[in-house]
Amino acid sequence: MGRTMRTPIIAGNWKLNNTISEAVALTTALKDLVADCTGVEIIVAPTFTALATVSDVIKGSNIRLAAQDVYWEESGAFTGEVSVPMLKDVGCDYVIIGHSERRQYFGETNESVNQKAKAVLSHDLQPIVCVGEQLEDREAGRTEEVINDHVTGGIAGLSAAQLLSGVIAYEPVWAIGTGKTATPAQAQEVHGYIRKLLKDAYSDEIASQIRIQYGGSVKPENAAELMAQPDVDGALVGGASLQAESFAQIVKNAL
Ligand code: PEP
Repeated sequence: MGRTMRTPIIAGNWKLNNTISEAVALTTALKDLVADCTGVEIIVAPTFTALATVSDVIKGSNIRLAAQDVYWEESGAFTGEVSVPMLKDVGCDYVIIGHSERRQYFGETNESVNQKAKAVLSHDLQPIVCVGEQLEDREAGRTEEVINDHVTGGIAGLSAAQLLSGVIAYEPVWAIGTGKTATPAQAQEVHGYIRKLLKDAYSDEIASQIRIQYGGSVKPENAAELMAQPDVDGALVGGASLQAESFAQIVKNAL
């Protein structure tokens, strides 16, 4: 199965940005700009506080909702956490898991990523599992080792069907929020490696069906070139998703 058989998926990770009124303005503008876009999945990931309102704004549109994180327990004495049933209730279809900022600042590990992925899948939501090496890993020639560790740790124990319900996002940490994008060749090299890992762990057929997004300073100017790579199936966009025009342009450049 070639890239053309995998529906491109463009997700906007708003991170710690946007009040409810700002989220409404951004989503309303985006909705108009991408109204005619078909053949691509469009996702926004607001903060928890804006999920319910954004969920209302996108009702009936071609935009889908993601959360930026989740906890694996369903309920109980876990102050400050939000569960998968709560995200489902508010209208989420996707949950971003293991973003490098969560690994770096909030102690996310491959084990917690794996627990979260399993919880998300058990409620029929779709995890976007983020993996990616730091600059020093790349410079020390350890990129594949780190990617192998993140991928195999994050998806441990998932059935083939569960794996296919999810998405993997390759986000080199040195390219996130730095304006320094991986070259299309660098992105393709790691995406190809991830697909090979999945082929070895599952099968050629499964590996060729799963979608792998690239993330790291994706902008309208570099989106088409990245998306033209055979194993790049979409983008996870941070900074450029905070402007409706630039995010919409990335969506259009993915087609
Ligand atoms: C991200 O947050 O996942 C990301 C890739 O950010 P940026 O596009 O700003 O580099």
